[in-house]
Amino acid sequence: MRMTRYAASLAVLGLALAGCASEAGNQAAEQTDAGVEVEQSTDFEPGTTMAELSEAGSITVGTKFDQPGFGLLNPTTDAPDGFDVEIAKIIAAELGIAPEGIEWVETVSANREPFLQNGQVDMVVATYTINDQRKELIDFAGPYYTAGQDIMVPTGNPQGIQGPEDLAGKRVCSVEGSTPAQNIRDNYPEAQLTLFDVYSKCADALANGQVDAVTTDNVILTGLVAGSDGGFELVGNPFTEEPYGIGVPKGDDEFRTFINDTLEQAYESGAWADAWDRTAGAITGEPAPEPPSVDRY
Ligand code: GLU
Repeated sequence: MRMTRYAASLAVLGLALAGCASEAGNQAAEQTDAGVEVEQSTDFEPGTTMAELSEAGSITVGTKFDQPGFGLLNPTTDAPDGFDVEIAKIIAAELGIAPEGIEWVETVSANREPFLQNGQVDMVVATYTINDQRKELIDFAGPYYTAGQDIMVPTGNPQGIQGPEDLAGKRVCSVEGSTPAQNIRDNYPEAQLTLFDVYSKCADALANGQVDAVTTDNVILTGLVAGSDGGFELVGNPFTEEPYGIGVPKGDDEFRTFINDTLEQAYESGAWADAWDRTAGAITGEPAPEPPSVDRY
């Protein structure tokens, strides 16, 4: 993990959240952190990805390691915590794989498609917006959440930034290979864009005064605000829709369908809302929203 100064304070936040989560999870022996029972008798069509993973008893999942509420490496367990992590555990459980059977790999925004294409990960659950450009390279199950691009500024908003139009002439930070960075390049070319590989570096740059604002999905920024010790605030005016999907290798329609079925079950059983409440919801203070309908394209 890149242990930037900001990342160190995020780790403390992660520990605090892990404390909340374990209280809730204690009631559930033989269950994953998500309160989801690991399927004991799986029966998948031989030759499918599900059969292979289930047989192996392990799955490799790409996720973020520096995004509180969604995927944040917990130095105590050396595994990440967050909503994306819980979604991955729900899917693994349905394959008969316990959380200990999950190998977590840090995927940053720019390497998610290549990691899926190269087989370095079996799936990616990483605040990953579904779009047509990405669908040329990989496929998506979901969506399982819809975020929106927003802006984070120093507390008090000294530059009076209310929306993306106000970024003209301002130094704004985002991440290479992300949809928010692409949106700024395409539609707000007068913004002076600084790009890093991960959002925690943008938070450092904002704290140091190297940039005036950070832009990405509202829920990612909310996690960074929570870790900023009062240093940052969210503008709170989302200006895109970012439907989060689960990336799978292109053409694996059976695996995609299996994940979509599993998501729908988790919507119905309450496991999805429970996962939200214990992770991202614990930061935003918002109850779980209505889950989006999965897109069986
Ligand atoms: N959801 C956006 C994306 O997939 C931004 C978040 C991220 O970079 O992970 O590009």
